[in-house]
This record gives sequence, C-alpha cells and structure tokens, in this order.
Amino acid sequence: MRDATVIGGGPSGLAAAVWLAEKGYDVAVVEVMGELGGMLTQCIHDGFGTRVFGEALSGPEFSERLVKKARLLGLRTFLNTYVKEVRIGKEFKEVVAVSPAGVQRLQTRVIVYAIGCRERNGFEIRLGGARPAGVYTAGMVQRLVNLYGVLPGRRIVIMGGGDVGMIVARHLHLEGVESILMVFPEAGFAGLPRNVQQCILDFGIPFRPRTVVKKVIGKERVEGVVLTRVDEKWNPVEGTEEFHACDTVVLALGLVPYTGELKLGVRMDPATRGPEVNEFFETSVQGVFAVGNLVQVFDYVDDAFETACIAARGVEKYLNSGLKTAPIRLSPGENVRMLTPQRVEWVDDADVPVFLRPAVEKANVRIVVRNREGRVLGGFFKRYVRPSTLERIEVPRSMLSNLQEVSIDIAED
Ligand SMILES: Cc1cc2nc3c(=O)[nH]c(=O)nc-3n(C[C@H](O)[C@H](O)[C@H](O)COP(=O)(O)OP(=O)(O)OC[C@H]3O[C@@H](n4cnc5c(N)ncnc54)[C@H](O)[C@@H]3O)c2cc1C
Repeated sequence: MRDATVIGGGPSGLAAAVWLAEKGYDVAVVEVMGELGGMLTQCIHDGFGTRVFGEALSGPEFSERLVKKARLLGLRTFLNTYVKEVRIGKEFKEVVAVSPAGVQRLQTRVIVYAIGCRERNGFEIRLGGARPAGVYTAGMVQRLVNLYGVLPGRRIVIMGGGDVGMIVARHLHLEGVESILMVFPEAGFAGLPRNVQQCILDFGIPFRPRTVVKKVIGKERVEGVVLTRVDEKWNPVEGTEEFHACDTVVLALGLVPYTGELKLGVRMDPATRGPEVNEFFETSVQGVFAVGNLVQVFDYVDDAFETACIAARGVEKYLNSGLKTAPIRLSPGENVRMLTPQRVEWVDDADVPVFLRPAVEKANVRIVVRNREGRVLGGFFKRYVRPSTLERIEVPRSMLSNLQEVSIDIAED
C-alpha cells in the first residue's frame, strides 16, 4: 500500500507529491489529462513563480520545473486516469480510477486532492438569449489560442473584468482580432491592478464598466449581443439596451473550486466554496487533504504551491501519528469575505499562515485577530487592501493557545 496518492497533477498536486517523494515517501499522482501541469500548461504569459523560483516564468516553464523534479525522483504517475470514486476504510483508503487500461484500484494511507478550480458558466448567471456557436469560456479560448493556434472568432465581447478575462483580452488583441469589448457589472476591473495596466490600458483595449450582456443573438453562430447598463446593485437600467455586433462571446465569470469532483462527504465552507481545512490543509475526513485552487481560488500559483508544501508537512505528521488537540475555529470577521484555514488542531510549533480575502478596499488598515469576546489578540499592519488581492498573515501559535474560537477582521489602523 502507498503512503499517499495525489489526485490532480497540476502545480499544487505536483508540489505536494515532489515534497513527499523527496522525503522518501511512496507517493503516486493520478491525472485525468494526458500530461502533467494542470491549468498552467495553457497560461503562456509570464509572471508565475516570483516567490517559489525567484523568477517571473511562464505557466509551462513553472510546471516544467516541477515535472522535471518529479521525473528525477521517479514519481509514479497515472495519466489519462480519471478518479471516479474514493473509499474510506478503517485501515486504508482506496482510489478507484478509470483509464484506457481499465479500472485501477489504488490503496493508500493518505489522499491529497489537488483538482483545482473550474470556470463559472453562462447558466450560473442566467445568460439570456439564443445558444448559437461562438460562446466560449475564457479558459477554452486560452486553450484554443495558446495550445492549438486557433482563433475563436474576430469580433469579440468578453464578459467579466477579472484577471483571466484581462489576460485573455490581451492575448486576443496580440493575435490580431478585429475588435474586443470588455463589459463587467462592477464600477472598475475586479482583477489585480498590475493586470489592468499591463493587459488593458497598455494596449488601449475598450471596456465598459457597469454593463452586462443581457442576451446573446444568433442562429447558427453568434451575430451580436444585447448590452444593458446596470446600477450599483447590478439591476438593469431601463432604456439602456443596445445591440452590439460580434461573432464571439467569451465568458470570464470567475473561478470556483472544483468541488463537484470531490467523491466523499467532506465538510464545505460556503464562503470559499471549497472544503473546510485545518492548518495543514486536512479536510474534515482524517487523512484526506485538499490543496491549491480546490481549497480557495488563489491569485497566484505561488500561494497554491505553498498550500501544497504545508499540506505535505501535514501528510508527514499524519503518517507518523502526529497529535491533535481540540480544534480552534477561525472565522472571517468584519471586512473579511473568506479565509483559510478554518480550524487549527495539530500539535505543532510553527506559526499558522492564514490566507484571507478582504471585502473592502482601504488604505492603512490592521488585520486583527480577536477572541470570542472580541478582545484583540494581535494585529498586522497593511498599507492597502482590496478584494482582488488575497492577503496572507502568519498567526503565532502562542496567540491561539487555550482558545476555542477566534475571528479575523480588517479594522482602521
Ligand atoms: C481559465 C483559467 C486561467 C487561469 N489563469 C491564471 C493565470 O493567468 N495566472 C495564475 O496565477 N493563475 C491562473 N489560473 C489559476 C490557476 O489554475 C492556478 O494558478 C494553478 O493552476 C492552480 O494549481 P492547482 O494545481 O491547484 O490546479 P490546476 O492547475 O487546475 O490542476 C488541477 C489538476 O487536476 C486534474 N483533475 C481534475 N479532476 C480530476 C479527477 N477527477 N481525476 C484526476 N485528475 C483530475 C486536472 O486535469 C488538473 O490537471 C487560471 C485558472 C483558470 C481556470
């Protein structure tokens, strides 16, 4: 029986597997696609790995470094293999997977889920109108353009002003499409300021805030969209509808942890929309860990990578019968939309990294840790916070001792 089986061969899964293999643990990676690297194989722009490798790499370069390490270590990988079921027994766990070779049953002491996130689709925002050809998710466009050299269309409307939408807009512009229009319901772009400058403003790509696509028009192929302005609550403003001719609609509506693929009853967090985890990224099922974008959507792959390394330490503790205490619950307080981990429970000396998404945009604030009674236990000064940038603090373990519950909020400094 193996020590650990990692489900998902993206950067997080590979990082966890490599960490464990380097320590001599018997570990395997199961990946549904025909190659390792996950989403990064199609992200050919640079900016990945500044923290992990100290260089700004493209997505494929980042994943190639991990794949090389995996090969050198002789890591066992199952490609084109889809995990269909996971069984949790008393003595061991079983991963049931299907591949062209048939059904595989892998017995393992630990499972690390690293299956990433998925894109929100048109049904989730009740996109109206017809269903012609020419409506794509941004990820699919990225794949078509960057991996297969195929342009999805010539006159493009992109719905959504987040990072993925901006990056895809720049690629399409550089590939020479005739026109691009970005529309989004917020008053400003929802992604990183760096991407607003480098992807949109530097290339003069047109965009319309407080605007959404109400309807897609077209029989066989997209012929246009009906745009409408929206108010600050995103309600359509009457009388502002207008037809805009285009042949392609790109949905860049945000990413959501891919939890539909979790094949066992782990406790979920409605705020992150991922599984609830402890400080070593173990889910509510003992010996089942979750890492990377499956846990919460991280802005940078470097953060997803870090969760995998933390989880690998947790796997090691689990395999060596590390001790746990009564859990201390961590919950988002005022001005914090979500945070990870949601509980702290291992006996350990290390400080606890906490990743949190601000709900507000503010300068000169303090991220404050409070006990159940609201007493401040400690604070971390931040020059500027905004919802598009995930924050990371390290909570000293001593700050949490003898507590059952803490909340973390963002307050004026
Ligand atoms: C469209 C899109 C564009 C993105 N662009 C950027 C960007 O420009 N910059 C950036 O920093 N981040 C970007 N991201 C985020 C990016 O996903 C992460 O930075 C990084 O890839 C997260 O790594 P991961 O290993 O957690 O997930 P992933 O890279 O998504 O890897 C998950 C792996 O699990 C596999 N898998 C899923 N289900 C199963 C199953 N049942 N059985 C076996 N294998 C399975 C998948 O095939 C995949 O290889 C983008 C994400 C998407 C969806």
